[in-house]
Amino acid sequence: MVEILEEVHRRLSRLPKHPGPLAKGLKEALLEVRRVVEAVAPWLLSGVQLPPEGQLLQDAWQLREGKVPKNGAYAFWLHQALRLVSWPEASRASSGGDWQERCPSCGGFPDVGYLDAEGRRFHVCAFCDTQFRSMRLACPYCGETHPGRLAYYEENPYRIHVCRSCGERFVLQDLRLKAHLDLPALRARAAWYALAEENDVEV
Ligand SMILES: [Zn+2]
Ligand SMILES: [Zn+2]
Repeated sequence: MVEILEEVHRRLSRLPKHPGPLAKGLKEALLEVRRVVEAVAPWLLSGVQLPPEGQLLQDAWQLREGKVPKNGAYAFWLHQALRLVSWPEASRASSGGDWQERCPSCGGFPDVGYLDAEGRRFHVCAFCDTQFRSMRLACPYCGETHPGRLAYYEENPYRIHVCRSCGERFVLQDLRLKAHLDLPALRARAAWYALAEENDVEV
């Protein structure tokens, strides 16, 4: 299962960008993502319909701001397509909030991260893969900093952080335990934990 997710992420990571107008680029990107996913994991997007364009663009803006659509498959599809389009410059200044967990290059939120050789924590932008230094103890989604509401467990070389305030989880790879950072593999691992949680199965 995690191998299939890894293959999906590996193929998606090789897709070309779609420059040009956002609405047009996004539509093309959505089709391309669907084509790639269906070649490897047809079940992943089966039954997911795209909303009308107005709703689609609104969902896209919200996702860029960190508000993820409830339907997990749709959220995945839209997120992967957004990775392929260039986001309007104007929106970047407004993102961020008062905790510094936004990508310095595109304003996006991080989806995975790692601990470097010195144990310092870095996050990887969910949209453009820029890697940036992170605050050690804060939820990247809601900004929670209270230690009692932030927990993590280890499955070497991974560390899975769980935020009790927003319920989100965040997967880090400890490079001291496995030095090679393979983003498609790490993202597949994060998706696997999320799916396991959704289906309430043991991982
Ligand atoms: Zn970015
Ligand atoms: Zn949180």
